[in-house]
Amino acid sequence: MALERTLSMIKPDATARNITGAIIAKLEGAGLRVIAQKRVKWSEAQAQKFYEVHKERPFYNDLVAFMTSGPIVMQVLEGEDAVARNREVMGATNPQEADEGTIRAEFAENIERNSVHGSDSAENAAIEIALCFDESEIVG
Ligand code: ATP
Ligand code: MG
Repeated sequence: MALERTLSMIKPDATARNITGAIIAKLEGAGLRVIAQKRVKWSEAQAQKFYEVHKERPFYNDLVAFMTSGPIVMQVLEGEDAVARNREVMGATNPQEADEGTIRAEFAENIERNSVHGSDSAENAAIEIALCFDESEIVG
């Protein structure tokens, strides 16, 4: 096991319903520590850049519109195997397929409005953290 960092985001469907605290409690309950956090509203350009890997996917334009529709809370999480542990507590992308007790099973509205984002590899975590945070904002 290795101490890792991952990028987490609480999406606009969740900030709109005022459930950021409930989601953070789940993350902390899974052994993840919030070592950086901020609430921001993305411009279209910021969302397009973050989700560039998905730009050929049919849901890309809708995803950018959704992610700019309201505030998001972005976090750097640290813990043992943080990338995998975070993906586990998030649950499957489609909440109908998410395991009981996961964030998406409890809180997500549908496959797009699925409450949270988490990096899918240590390599992408490093890229996403650098995109979203200044080193000085990470205060583990
Ligand atoms: P995330 O990257 O947000 O952590 P993920 O890795 O589980 O989620 P991805 O395949 O990377 O899923 O898709 C990124 C996001 O795009 C999803 O979280 C969801 O909000 C949206 N999305 C994915 N698939 C679909 C789809 N079929 N229809 C609509 N939106 C989708
Ligand atoms: Mg993803």
